[in-house]
Amino acid sequence: MRELIYCPVCGHKLIERELGGRPRKACANCGYVHYVNPVPAVGILIEMEDGVVLIRRGQPPHQGEWTLPSGFIEADESAEEAAVREAEEETGLQVEIIDLAGINSFPEGPPTSGIIIFFRVRPIGGVLRGGDDALEARVFPVESIPRLPFRTHREVMASWLAARSAGETAIRADEREHEYVVRPAEARDIDEIMALIALIPANRALSDDEWRAVELRLRESAGVEVFVAVSVGTPPIILGFLALSIVRTLTGGRGFINDMAVLPTYQRRGIGAALLEAALKRAQRLSLRTMLVNTRQNPHLDPIWPDKLGMTHADLRQLPIPGLDEDAVDD
Ligand SMILES: [Zn+2]
Repeated sequence: MRELIYCPVCGHKLIERELGGRPRKACANCGYVHYVNPVPAVGILIEMEDGVVLIRRGQPPHQGEWTLPSGFIEADESAEEAAVREAEEETGLQVEIIDLAGINSFPEGPPTSGIIIFFRVRPIGGVLRGGDDALEARVFPVESIPRLPFRTHREVMASWLAARSAGETAIRADEREHEYVVRPAEARDIDEIMALIALIPANRALSDDEWRAVELRLRESAGVEVFVAVSVGTPPIILGFLALSIVRTLTGGRGFINDMAVLPTYQRRGIGAALLEAALKRAQRLSLRTMLVNTRQNPHLDPIWPDKLGMTHADLRQLPIPGLDEDAVDD
């Protein structure tokens, strides 16, 4: 996001002040404080008899790809009104709200930090056709929904599909059991892993060049093994990932976990623990002597895991690898 330089009220140059625990742009002349908050948006699951409506985007980001209809809320409308308006603009359908489908933050963008409120709606009129900035609008049967390019859309779609198949549309996402498997990452997972890496707060400041380097390292994966937790469903989505960096020594080696993230609506369900377990098993097979975890990069690990796993230090914690004699640790 571009930095604000001048006061939007009086035009004086803004200074930096600490307010409410973080530095903010403020005006020494008139007292204006520039608070930066997430922008609210709506996403719409239009439930049809034979599936759900997706639109093909006419604008970047992800121009030409299929997504849920969505858009930003105007200042003079409610979230519900915005959902009904966006549905009609982008799909030609008049709709009514059935229920809230989920609320999902996207502090990582794109383009700026936001909150998207998803609604389940049903058509009550109109004719299905692409409109506004949608090139096309079409009903997709639930078995053939493509992989959606936006992380938040993938999350809500996975929840909606899980609820639908369980016949439990009224149950909140966080009360539902979600099945997933942990497996080594594949080339086709890279976009979703990149979206998860962007969620790690420490990575928000990475430049475009640094992001390209991250993707390259992920593709080449030299000395790094990536594990993903994948939902069981159609289409499967990646719920979390963990990258295990391996440093070989003459007598064994060390494992280092620096990057790990779980989708916000799937946290606190043991997915991080399952990924860690997979990494520890792999470390055991490779006879690694020590495992280090950067807990500053992985805020979700703290404070639940370090103590359970016997880790000690504040930021760089050491994990005992099961099955290896602790006395043998070459530290
Ligand atoms: Zn001012």
